[in-house]
Amino acid sequence: MSMTFDPESRFGGLDDKGFLVYPNAYDCYQCHYGVSFSQQSLQRSRDTHSLLGSNGSSGYEENLFSLHSTEWESPGEHFAINIACPRCGAAVGIVFEATESLPGFIRFRPVLVVAPSSGT
Ligand SMILES: [Zn+2]
Repeated sequence: MSMTFDPESRFGGLDDKGFLVYPNAYDCYQCHYGVSFSQQSLQRSRDTHSLLGSNGSSGYEENLFSLHSTEWESPGEHFAINIACPRCGAAVGIVFEATESLPGFIRFRPVLVVAPSSGT
């Protein structure tokens, strides 16, 4: 079983609509290490991990998407990033919504944080 977390409980650096501001930090659910995301890295991930076209996305990400696609309702485009905490190694998948708020400027909103399992 996977554990899911409310992004608002795991992220520092969200505006009142839940969009990431910079700097920001994802708070590791195990050790509370802060992992920050840059606009550049999110943009790159969006380009390579888009979940709308399934080509190029990993099976895990597609699972993540199909398992949880009913849990959000937003018009944006979604993609998932898998990270491992640099300190404790805890893996987590984060689904982001990407919205073009101004021409050429994309904002990112974490909509779901999923840990694959509670450990073996
Ligand atoms: Zn950690």
